[in-house]
Parts: sequence; structure tokens; C-alpha cells
Amino acid sequence: GLTVKVLITDEVDEAGVDMLRSAGFEVKYSPGMGKDELLGVIGQYHVLIVRSRTKVTKEVIERGRNLVVIGRSGVGLDNIDVETARARGIEVVNSPEALTNSTAELALGLMLAAARKIAYTHQQLSSGKWAKEESMGYELYGKTLGIIGFGRIGRRLAELASCMGMSVLAYDVVKPPEDSLRKVGAKLVGLEDLFAGSDFISIHVTLTPQTKGMIGEPLLRKAKRNAIIVNTSRGEVFDTQSLVKALESGWIAGAALDVYDKEPPEPGSKLLTLPNVVHTPHIGAQTYEAQRKSITMLAEKIISIIKS
Ligand code: NAD
Repeated sequence: GLTVKVLITDEVDEAGVDMLRSAGFEVKYSPGMGKDELLGVIGQYHVLIVRSRTKVTKEVIERGRNLVVIGRSGVGLDNIDVETARARGIEVVNSPEALTNSTAELALGLMLAAARKIAYTHQQLSSGKWAKEESMGYELYGKTLGIIGFGRIGRRLAELASCMGMSVLAYDVVKPPEDSLRKVGAKLVGLEDLFAGSDFISIHVTLTPQTKGMIGEPLLRKAKRNAIIVNTSRGEVFDTQSLVKALESGWIAGAALDVYDKEPPEPGSKLLTLPNVVHTPHIGAQTYEAQRKSITMLAEKIISIIKS
């Protein structure tokens, strides 16, 4: 029969390439392939696999007259013209569930880093300062964690937090399945009650017109003064000005951020220089496990689409 030809133009874990080959597909692995070369060769392929670098534009899709599936390893489809693809009957798939555990673990790590001033004391000690006296912190045990967005990552973080002896409050626009709440003893509350009742707050919503800027001054003023807010979702969920004001005025105790409204943020920006902010450069999914799962879960989906 027909040999299924797969083109991969971004760097992915070998395990995924092997899976596709074992399924009998002919795989061309060309990470870093340029735009012109892609336009020249795409017509021969049935499957195109990318991460975020390759721009799968209207032109690429139109030249890909044999395309059946476009796969995006990981989360986000902003680099793919999904509308054009679907209009031409091409399936577009990704593998966001591969990143869930890594991102939830990072959120837990950021909570600990902020609560115990790990990043701050590390930085002080690097410059020779033994900042012990000023570095009293908090335990997570017995505290309340408010989770905004009780989806995949939010629920996984709730499991980790309940292992740490925390109580969980959850807020979501979609009612989560009853057992996902019961399993971790989470209580569903409104957003204002979540802010008023939480010692730690962790944000796990998707970015939408409704969540853009959703956390601003009115909510931040409702938070406990000892509250630490963690964001591993998208920077735009915060109104950044209000967050800086809250951190400077002591409405909250601290923040731990993996994401920013502009990435990377301007050097010297307040969020990078305030002593009560822990910051990482969007590393939620930067683990060997997440990257391997991204491509193997995607390969599984593509194989089942092609074989069905
Ligand atoms: P998900 O779709 O499983 O969960 C998102 C949840 O947010 C859903 O339950 C949804 O109902 C809820 N939600 C949507 N709009 C809302 C609103 N207005 N108010 C309250 N809740 C709302 O997604 P996920 O896989 O858990 O990912 C969550 C976020 O994490 C996404 O923004 C994603 O981009 C981000 N993410 C970041 C990294 C990283 O590297 N830091 C890695 C993976 C994912």
C-alpha cells in the first residue's frame, strides 16, 4: 500500500521518531528546517510535526496538498493556521497533557522557594551574605492553597499539595468532576473567597479574553497579607502594574513567577528586582520527561488517526 511520509521540522525526543518508524511510517527528521525548504518539500508529506519554532502558515498548508495531520508536540497552537488546516480537512493535534506533572511540580517548587526564601538566600549567599536572621519563612503544612483554574495542572497540584498537608480551595468557570474535588478534599469557592481565604494562591487558567488581566487590584487587595501567589499559566492573567503595587505595598507577601506578559521581561523590570519575587524563565515544561511524553503521546495520537 501507500507509505505514510512524516516530516518533523523541530527538535523532538528520539523516542517519538522511533515510535513513528516502528508504526511503519517513513520519517524525515529535519529539526531547524528553513521556511523556503519547507515550502519546497511539504507537498510530499502526509504528516507534519512541529513544536513552536516552525510557522505552519496558510502557504505551508496550501502547498501541503497531501497533508492529513499536523501535530504540535506540547501545548499551544499559535504557530499553526488551524482554521486553514481544518477547512481543508486536515486534523490538527497536540499533546498538552504531557506537560501537566512537570508544570505542577514546578508550581510546588516555586511555593517552597518563596515560602522558605530559597531563591533569596541563595542569591544573598552567592554574594557572601549569611541572610539567616531576616529569612524566617512559613511551612506549607496546614496552610490553605487556592487554585485558580482546576484543570489538568490545577488538579495535579492539588494532589501534591494535599500530600504536603495543605487544604485546597478551587475556583473554575467549569464545574470540575466531583471526584477530582473529593480526592483531595478540595472545596469549590468563588474567586473573592479564594483570595480572602488562601495562604498560597496558584494560577492555572488558560489565557482567554476573560482571564486576560483577571487578577488586578480589587482581588489583590482582598488577599491575606501573608499570601504568596504563584503563576505558571500565562503572564497576561495578571494586571502586572497591580501585582507590582501589591508586592511593594505589602498587600501580599510575595510572588513566584514562571511566566510574564512580555517574555523575556525588560531587564531591570520590577518583577525581576523586588526581593519578594521568585522568578524562573518559563521552565514549566522544561524536563526530560515532559519533552519525551510530548512527542510520544503525540505520535500515539497520530498513529491512531492514520490507522483508523
Ligand atoms: P486545562 O485546560 O486543563 O485547565 C485550564 C482550566 O482553566 C480549565 O479547567 C478551565 O475551565 C479553566 N478556566 C478557563 N477560563 C477560566 C476563567 N475565566 N475562570 C476560571 N477558570 C477558567 O489546562 P492546563 O493543561 O491545566 O494548563 C493550564 C495553563 O498552564 C495554561 O495557561 C497553559 O498555557 C499553562 N502552561 C504553562 C506551562 C509552563 O511552562 N509554565 C506549561 C504547560 C501549561
